[in-house]
Amino acid sequence: MTDSEPLPPIPLESFAFFFDLDGTLAGIEKRPEWVSIPDDTKRALAEIYSLANGAVALVSGRALKELDALCAPLKCPAAGVHGAERRDAEGHIHRTELSPALMSKLGSELNLAIAAYPGCHVEGKGMAYALHYRQSEAFADDILALAETFTQRYPELALQRGKCVVELKPRGVDKGAAIHAFMQEAPFVDRTPLFIGDDLTDEAGFSQVNALGGVSIKVGPGETAARYHLDDVGKVQQWLLSLTKQQESQSIKTIISVGEDL
Ligand SMILES: [Mg+2]
Repeated sequence: MTDSEPLPPIPLESFAFFFDLDGTLAGIEKRPEWVSIPDDTKRALAEIYSLANGAVALVSGRALKELDALCAPLKCPAAGVHGAERRDAEGHIHRTELSPALMSKLGSELNLAIAAYPGCHVEGKGMAYALHYRQSEAFADDILALAETFTQRYPELALQRGKCVVELKPRGVDKGAAIHAFMQEAPFVDRTPLFIGDDLTDEAGFSQVNALGGVSIKVGPGETAARYHLDDVGKVQQWLLSLTKQQESQSIKTIISVGEDL
């Protein structure tokens, strides 16, 4: 990671933008349902979506319906549950699902097992389960070990670590695969990808974007494959606003120079 390297210029007309949500566009809260995206960030996102001709997608561990609720009124392409559900630019949904029988069995077994760890809870995400321990961080190792017993017993599952959460998701699903899928499609294809995220789950996305010659940005501290760095959610917001302002000043320059030519 290149801590001190300034971010390169990002022309909106030639980049494809991929954004993680929690810890990137919005601050982390004790409970996921307490999270909201600041209004200025939402306005900047909507402006970038418009100026980049729709080449903007959210890539998150949250379900699509939660992403839509958090970004409203903007409804853009998005990959939810780490890419297990993905809505393309035409609105088509692509899903990688575990069988309903397996999801039901997992739900019962996980809820039973996690009862041994007060303050921890299971979140069903439709095609994955998240084991949260934000309010009981002392159980971090226990929850990880518990999740590992499930990936050993069920080869259909892969383990995904995050900040105070361990998830069990369908094998083969990750943010890198989701970004790769978007990059095959309009309006993303033939653009340079940019991905910004803050957590272990974002590393697959950083590697994918690096392989495509794009710009990978890690928010906050920690080892990472990302090539650039922003300190926190506040810095992300400032940078997003600067992107929209850069475009406005270019538009004004163009209008002035066209005016001078007349
Ligand atoms: Mg995040």
